[in-house]
Amino acid sequence: MFNSIKKVGSKYTGLLIRMDDIAEHMNWKFMDKCELLFDKFNIKPLLGVIPENKDPEFKKYPKNSDFWNRVNNWNEKGWEISMHGYSHLYEQQTKKNDIFNYGGGSEFYGLDYKKQLTKIRLGIGKFKEKNIFIRSFFAPNHTYDLNTLKALKESGIKIVIDGYGLFPYHKFGLLFIPQLFYKEIFLPFGIQSTQMHINYWDNKYLQNFEVFINKNHNKIVDLNYILNLDQSNFLKNSINYSVEKTLKVIRSFR
Ligand SMILES: [Zn+2]
Repeated sequence: MFNSIKKVGSKYTGLLIRMDDIAEHMNWKFMDKCELLFDKFNIKPLLGVIPENKDPEFKKYPKNSDFWNRVNNWNEKGWEISMHGYSHLYEQQTKKNDIFNYGGGSEFYGLDYKKQLTKIRLGIGKFKEKNIFIRSFFAPNHTYDLNTLKALKESGIKIVIDGYGLFPYHKFGLLFIPQLFYKEIFLPFGIQSTQMHINYWDNKYLQNFEVFINKNHNKIVDLNYILNLDQSNFLKNSINYSVEKTLKVIRSFR
């Protein structure tokens, strides 16, 4: 009895490494260190690549003119290349009316459907030009409205690396892989993604991350693993529902 619970637990326990803000201009020193670490443990992270980065925050970091070759290289290694917005410019304000109630600035929220569709298609086009197939997306600052989701679906992207819950879930005809914490945290049960912003790391953060990976590398999964799991379990959906409610209440106090 306990054995079988443990087995279910381990099958449905995992963390997807989601790296944010991968662009020509970024903290390449930490990227190279992470790559060595991931290769050592055969970890296949999901990289949120900004196809046409215009964010002035990131332009402060060194530019790598070999960027798209690096992306191709990661892709060939089996790392998942995901689309992280289009330009990463926050030109819209959500006033906490975005789908996940994160609030703050947004690249997509509030734009009309056609504008959102154009941005997403231009992004996919850029990847295509570089021979990279895109099947997943996450928006800068976690901010979406219903038109963002409609435009993603229309463009053939069915996986969003964001959302609440302990398990991936289907909603609006898309698969959401929840992203709960700002730091690398392992829950004893459930499948979520982390988020990593290496541009804001220092050496101490890198060391902590290396310790975390050394300890937890056997629980780190890739996107294909998650897609191969059965998603339709009722128990998981009801747990997700209560987590979503709880987190929305907590966020509304901020
Ligand atoms: Zn970002």
